[in-house]
Amino acid sequence: MRGFFIGRFQPYHHGHHEVIRKILDEVDELVIGIGSAQESHTLENPFTAGERILMISRALEELNAGRTYVVPLEDIYRNSLWVSHVCSMVPPFSIVYSNNPLVIRLFKEAGLKVVSTKLYRRVEYQGTEIRRRMLNGEEWESLVPEVVAEVIKGIDGVRRIREIAGKDV
Ligand code: NAP
Repeated sequence: MRGFFIGRFQPYHHGHHEVIRKILDEVDELVIGIGSAQESHTLENPFTAGERILMISRALEELNAGRTYVVPLEDIYRNSLWVSHVCSMVPPFSIVYSNNPLVIRLFKEAGLKVVSTKLYRRVEYQGTEIRRRMLNGEEWESLVPEVVAEVIKGIDGVRRIREIAGKDV
């Protein structure tokens, strides 16, 4: 059975990592969609789709994941067509994992099986909080897998966020 999980992963953190670890116990193969792939270089979406592919692929190596596919997906701003758009871009799947009410609704309407997945230790691990810490020069590395921190450092990600915000670097 092949599953599908989507997020923006700005950035990929321990919460995503633990959810994916659990999903991998339930499926033979997993497609991970990188949502809002067209977005980058903003405070809300600092990282490009390519950078997010790197973060996720490196982290998956650590999970010894079986067959996984990481696919960037641009938004199409027409919700009624979005599921078809997704299906046209990724390998076929028969189960969707999400906690996003819109995503759940759209896939259910399309007749797909959807499982609601809460993020692991949600209070601690949140994209918004990680980006806030980066912006303010606070410690953020412990909130993401080590390999993800390496990717972000390798692309000088914190400086990018601070420069975009007009903060002194
Ligand atoms: P999102 O808009 O990126 O995330 C919304 C919030 O939900 C974030 O705070 C995120 O946390 C949190 N979250 C993500 N997964 C969660 C989970 N399993 N449990 C609890 N909280 C969770 O939405 P998304 O669901 O991660 O990604 C959906 C993607 O599909 C987006 O890129 C969206 O634009 C796209 N989409 C597009 C269309 C269209 O083009 N018409 C329609 C539907 C959806 P973190 O920041 O910590 O990850």
